[in-house]
Amino acid sequence: MNQKPRPKRAYVETYGCQMNISDGELMQGILADHGYEIVGAPEDADVVLVNTCAIREHAERRVLGRVSQLNGLKRERPDMVIGVTGCMAQRLGKTLLEQAPYVDLVMGPDGYRGLPEALERLERERSGGGSEHGTPRAAGVAPGGTISVIERSRGRGPQLAVLDLNMDENYQGLERRRADGPSAWVPIQRGCDHRCTYCIVPYVRGGEKNRSAVEVLSEVRRLAEQGVTEVTLLGQTVNSYVWEGVSFPGLLRDVARIDGIRRVRFTSPHPNDVTPDLVEVMAEEDAVCEQLHLPAQAGNNRTLKRMLRRYTVESLLEKVDLVRSAIPDVALSTDIIVAFPGETDDEFRDTLDLMRTVRFDEAFTYKYSLREGTPATRLPESDFVDADVAQARLAELIEVSRDIQSEINHSEIGRVEEVLIEHTGRDEGQVRGRTRRSKVVVFDGDPARIGEYADARLDRTTGVTFIGTEVGAAESVAAG
Ligand code: SF4
Repeated sequence: MNQKPRPKRAYVETYGCQMNISDGELMQGILADHGYEIVGAPEDADVVLVNTCAIREHAERRVLGRVSQLNGLKRERPDMVIGVTGCMAQRLGKTLLEQAPYVDLVMGPDGYRGLPEALERLERERSGGGSEHGTPRAAGVAPGGTISVIERSRGRGPQLAVLDLNMDENYQGLERRRADGPSAWVPIQRGCDHRCTYCIVPYVRGGEKNRSAVEVLSEVRRLAEQGVTEVTLLGQTVNSYVWEGVSFPGLLRDVARIDGIRRVRFTSPHPNDVTPDLVEVMAEEDAVCEQLHLPAQAGNNRTLKRMLRRYTVESLLEKVDLVRSAIPDVALSTDIIVAFPGETDDEFRDTLDLMRTVRFDEAFTYKYSLREGTPATRLPESDFVDADVAQARLAELIEVSRDIQSEINHSEIGRVEEVLIEHTGRDEGQVRGRTRRSKVVVFDGDPARIGEYADARLDRTTGVTFIGTEVGAAESVAAG
């Protein structure tokens, strides 16, 4: 009897932001749709894709270390394919293939539709054909863009590069393969039309591309039918979304009203697109959580101008007032970069003042990291802040923001909050979840209840996480 050939097995390992995690789900969906079995470890895979981030140098170094580690596996199984996808693949392109000669494929974020064809092409190229060592050769166009083939020396077979940016690619019509659970991330936009001078994203992900509102809504409906109750709409500047007359506030309202969807969040918004219309929808729709991430980046106008953030401290504070007057209990979080080239000590102190004025519930803090290809690299060398000074500023910012977070969280002790149970806790018999305001709460509970809602009293806090006690199961009927 003829045995059916075993399906090829693929493993996708993702680094970086939520958008990248969502792209990892997309790649898994595309491969599963083409007959690949998705496995949970590189040791079990024929194709290993490392889905990368380029936002910081550290992230790239980590990926290079990881692919070199995977080469150890490949030495035992030379047929194995190692691919590097995502922002770092787009940024470094063929240089990456030279730096890591055991990598077989580099593919940028707009190429994933053509992933199966590229892998097939690689297999065909491995079994014949070829050209002179080192000479790139265009090998046709797959759905993901032009495939270039580069021959390696010593008969080690070809490497493939798929690096076109495509203004039309928003992955319409493709299914993601998501892990089971109560929450799902739903990308509604790719790329970015801003040009913040420190940021690599527009150069590796291209301009803003929005998905059809019809498709987004039907995806959320399907997720709700599968038991998802919390969705987070995802985009690089998510609230600048517009599609055939549907604006972001309109889409948010429609998503919030889908049966079964009990919580809606969105990230990352641009402060300029936090409009009265958006705030009205956030305040009116029960399902939209009382939480907003408002990436300030700095608290000094000269620095904001050099970053090309297109707002001032004053206009940012107006946005904060707008949101807080409509949703008094809103939890605000932010991103801050210290030591941007040219930042003086006084300007850094303005950022600390902003933190003390707004009192964000949480702050994600970074030291400026130079990215080749971004406009900030062209600033005069003398502007670059000394590494020790940058480190000291970061430490001071962290201290200020943690103190504020801790004070806010201590003032919330005694509240009863609805928690969506998401994980087991660190200790046995504990579960961990998030409130609508995105605060993490740990309490005694049965892990079998992951995905359920419970009301928990916030008894104590570490300053960051709450330790609570369940006071009753929250009503399980969906809001909206
Ligand atoms: S808004 Fe600025 S920081 Fe955000 S992705 Fe676009 S360019 Fe980067």
